[in-house]
Amino acid sequence: MKRTLKIYNTLTGKKEAFQPIHEGHIGMYVCGPTVYNDVHLGNCRTFASFDMIYRYLLHLGYKVRYVRNITDVGHLTDDGEDRMAKGAKLARLEPMEVAQKYTVGFHDMMRIFNTLPPSIEPRATGHIPEQIEMVEDILARGLAYERNGSVYFNVPKFAETTPGVYGQLSGRVLDDLYSETRELKNQGEKEHPADFAIWMKARPEDIMVWKSPWSVGFPGWHLECSAMSTKYLGKTFDIHGGGNDLKFPHHENEVAQNHGACGCAPANYWMHTNMLLLNGKKMSKSDGNTISPLELFSGTSTHTSKSYSPMVVRFFMLMAHYRSTLDITDEALQAAEKGFKKLMEINKLVQNLPVDARNFDGSETNTDREMLALMETAFEGMDDDFNTAIAIASLNELGGYINKLVNKQIEASEVSPWVLEKTKVVFQTLIFDIFGLKDESDSGSDGGTVEGLMNLVLEFRANARAQKDWAASDKIRDSLQAIGIAVKDGKDGVSWTKQ
Ligand code: AMP
Ligand code: ZN
Repeated sequence: MKRTLKIYNTLTGKKEAFQPIHEGHIGMYVCGPTVYNDVHLGNCRTFASFDMIYRYLLHLGYKVRYVRNITDVGHLTDDGEDRMAKGAKLARLEPMEVAQKYTVGFHDMMRIFNTLPPSIEPRATGHIPEQIEMVEDILARGLAYERNGSVYFNVPKFAETTPGVYGQLSGRVLDDLYSETRELKNQGEKEHPADFAIWMKARPEDIMVWKSPWSVGFPGWHLECSAMSTKYLGKTFDIHGGGNDLKFPHHENEVAQNHGACGCAPANYWMHTNMLLLNGKKMSKSDGNTISPLELFSGTSTHTSKSYSPMVVRFFMLMAHYRSTLDITDEALQAAEKGFKKLMEINKLVQNLPVDARNFDGSETNTDREMLALMETAFEGMDDDFNTAIAIASLNELGGYINKLVNKQIEASEVSPWVLEKTKVVFQTLIFDIFGLKDESDSGSDGGTVEGLMNLVLEFRANARAQKDWAASDKIRDSLQAIGIAVKDGKDGVSWTKQ
């Protein structure tokens, strides 16, 4: 059966039946991390959500080109300093060393969370000519102006020539926008406070700079995603995603730039994941309101009473719909751990149930129908804007039938062989292919999990040491020490013992 996928489109504020531009193919762009510090758990939620979305699109049979960028220039702090350059100056490193260090860390973390790599992972600094070309296109269409070597997007002119577009994505009214726009730098040069820089002339202290027709400088942050999505997915593509907090100004300005450069909208569907909260507030590194994934895995976070494995954390994220906020608490993680273990056990039970076709007379029983309905509900949930919460609830209900079958409260003959076969496939497909979970007990007893986790933690430490980040390396060793694990650096490599 061909399924109908509905996607909530931030642009229209509605769930819409998904129609790809090219039959069977999907172009999807997701804003990636700014690699100037370690990813926190909130970032991981967004990338794990899009991984689940990517996996479901693949499951539906689409060929997906999934582009997720690396921001390594142009994302300024509120004081107008480039985040990469600031990190580099503090650590006395080349900006590209900072970018490399955190890109490696990001990839490690994505692997730990079992996310699939994107099809293309372009870097902003690798696409400066494309960004310069886009500035030229926007200038040529009269929607930007140059001031003293910087180039600004002309928001009022865009709003006038393309009515109804600016503000549509973030739901902001232009007048409010005009008055609330916070100025970053060079505000005196702008014709209007809502205008934003697409090229910035470098100041003497800027260290990541390139030549352009206007000045030696660097591109505005929003420009990279417009230029790279166009390059790899075309002027108009299917899905653009990112966290809720990127709607404004980042995505709103991206839309404006793409319209400004080519007169067309970049994406047909805009998808936004909701925030991971800690203490009821958005998890954010700059506010100090974060848990690092490693602290969670090693049990050294002050917010939790114990350690939680990566798959428990991934399952915890899947238990909520991607558009709902999700508060991370010790209790919620404990519940997720119980739920994850239960699901893994049920899956083992169902996979081990013998399929006996000998006495099968071909009729459909009531139990068959109930179980089939639950399987359908699980996939209907996924079709309904990727509702993993519904899919998990349906699997849990199906689990009730499996338990009864195992305990002989339901006779084996009440479930037709093909329904049992289908149940096995549905469990495997949803849990592993679509939710992207892994059975952490696969490597043996609990010892296997600990071994696996220790390898991961030590890999992080080895990376930190390779980058001469002694503070991070020592922190990992001390945190492990605090939970009774001694790490020894010998001449044959690193070893660990439980004290
Ligand atoms: P950044 O590296 O800060 O640009 O963020 C990378 C991605 O993580 C973006 O899509 C953000 O929207 C997303 N993000 C940041 N904080 C959170 C959070 N607390 N919960 C979920 N996603 C987040
Ligand atoms: Zn972006």
